[in-house]
Amino acid sequence: MSADHVPAVFQAGGARIEVMVGDITALALDAIVNAANSTLLGGGGVDGAIHRAAGPELLVHCRTLGGCPTGEARLTPGFQLKARHVIHTVGPVWQGGGAGEDGLLARCYRESLALAEAARLGSIAFPAISTGVYGFPAERAAPLAAAAVLDHVRARPLVTRVVFCCFSQGSANLHHAALRAQGLKP
Ligand code: ADP
Repeated sequence: MSADHVPAVFQAGGARIEVMVGDITALALDAIVNAANSTLLGGGGVDGAIHRAAGPELLVHCRTLGGCPTGEARLTPGFQLKARHVIHTVGPVWQGGGAGEDGLLARCYRESLALAEAARLGSIAFPAISTGVYGFPAERAAPLAAAAVLDHVRARPLVTRVVFCCFSQGSANLHHAALRAQGLKP
């Protein structure tokens, strides 16, 4: 798939689904999702970038949360970020695929969207959860992410804008292909 497929906009249910390449910390949406670890006390990758951009108050707030199990999500303010909120979710560490990783990854997307819905947030951006340090194969993660988001927006009305904020063209192309495989057309 060539680079001119990205950025791309799809419609599903009442929602606009976008695929872009960029830094999620720059997005001015109701919420950005953090691929956190279970301590919620910061780390590398997108987690480190979000904590740096949000400022030290985010860590102070996260310390009060007592961590988060894999597959669940927690909502915090965005502090210095352009986004109003951060939804921290803990993706599975890839262990070969036989340890429930697929179900846990899909659950991260579902739980994040459910939190957004409960907080009446309209727009949310996801990074490619678990596909960095946690080693989940990117080509396997993108269809799970696309399916979970589509299930949500087709059933629930409040989230009307979902952005897949990919960190590479290759990752964006995988999300684009996954949405097309679900029958969507840009
Ligand atoms: P995990 O531990 O869940 O694998 P990582 O942060 O290591 O989390 O990677 C998750 C994905 O986020 C990877 O695709 C990585 O390239 C991407 N990523 C890293 N920094 C950013 C950023 N600033 N904005 C968007 N995506 C990012």
